[in-house]
Amino acid sequence: MHLLLHAAVAAVVRPAARARMHATRSRVRACQSPVTVYSQSLDEVLERLQQKPYRMKQIRQWVYECGVTDFQEMTNLPKALQAKLLQEVATSSMEVATEQESRDGTRKRLLRLHDGQLIESVLMPYSDNRRTACISSQVGCAMGCTFCATGQMGFKRDLSADEIFEQAAVFSSELTRQGERLSNVVFMGMGEPFRNYDNVFEAASRIVGTLGVGARHVTISTVGVAPVVRQFADDCVANNLQLGLAISLHAASDAARGAIMPVNRRHDLHELMEACLYYTTVTGRRISFEWALIAGENDGEEQARELGQLLRPLKGRAHVNLIPLNPTRGFPGQPTGVAAARSFVDMLAHFGVPGTVRVRRGIDIDAGCGQLADEASKVEVERKAERKAAADPTEDPAHAVYE
Ligand code: SAH
Ligand code: SF4
Repeated sequence: MHLLLHAAVAAVVRPAARARMHATRSRVRACQSPVTVYSQSLDEVLERLQQKPYRMKQIRQWVYECGVTDFQEMTNLPKALQAKLLQEVATSSMEVATEQESRDGTRKRLLRLHDGQLIESVLMPYSDNRRTACISSQVGCAMGCTFCATGQMGFKRDLSADEIFEQAAVFSSELTRQGERLSNVVFMGMGEPFRNYDNVFEAASRIVGTLGVGARHVTISTVGVAPVVRQFADDCVANNLQLGLAISLHAASDAARGAIMPVNRRHDLHELMEACLYYTTVTGRRISFEWALIAGENDGEEQARELGQLLRPLKGRAHVNLIPLNPTRGFPGQPTGVAAARSFVDMLAHFGVPGTVRVRRGIDIDAGCGQLADEASKVEVERKAERKAAADPTEDPAHAVYE
């Protein structure tokens, strides 16, 4: 069933994505990465090898239904074909440079791409059986949010749709082999998804169509590139894909937001909220707003009131996720404590906005955006991990990746 769905989604999404030339389309392209078992172009390799279409179906069954990616284990393929595929197709286009596992089971990977660039992806297990992958969309990020480790490292390049999809597919294969399944995917790793939109949308479509993750359980987080929020709304409707949207807000006035998020100077809050209203209207879905709590900066009553006023036009189609700031080397702010975070939630409720304080996953392994790939901070990361080993996660929450 997944295979049929995959074919249908690919047929709908790819030509549209190719034809579109919208303003934010990236100008920096990834250089050629190898064809892998997860590549969209695997069928072209099989065609070139003059194989019948059912061979593709068999391979997809091995990969996506059994979690088997080694051609030699695909026992219904002739040995000669296995040998040819081994020559032409890689098992993966990225290698695990380092992997850390947190006490809460969160697994964070630093992945080395075919051109040596580093990205991060994270798998978070939850007690209710959810398995959430947090994946990257770019190497680095050009958006320059002052508090973010990825923003501090600058932009290197876009990821291809295959590279984005592969991060989720690898976790999915591993879980399948353990008798589990990937249930959720969030685009909250490195990079700004709406600055690499076509590749992100194509990868998200394949995550739904090929990996069988429900569209409602795939969430794309954006810094707030307003025109692309509208485009995304239209594409979700046109492709009948109910993908989720999260907006990183962190401040509810233009002055405060512009000071920490340069994007706000190009697309201010008025433009962003108009685009959000458009999204909720045409999709009927609610939006998650992310708010990194910075002590003394955005955790007081005045900010709660501003936020309440800002989100009022969305008429209940808004939820705020509060994530105490994860301190980074280049930003002086400190996280709001747990008690103050809870009282901010109460204040928000008073102003009519539902909010939830998210417990940070992977507290002991710095599972925060860009932190592992920031080569220069590696030593510091190790020292921090040691210091935190004895700490209570609820006392020291920081940057969370969550469903
Ligand atoms: N570029 C996208 C998605 C990647 S960042 C975006 O900005 O939404 C994923 C989330 O982590 C965003 O909400 C971002 O604002 C948040 N984030 C980044 N650095 C953080 C930090 N130091 N502490 C808390 N949240 C942080
Ligand atoms: Fe880029 Fe998101 Fe980090 Fe901002 S928060 S610099 S948009 S990755």
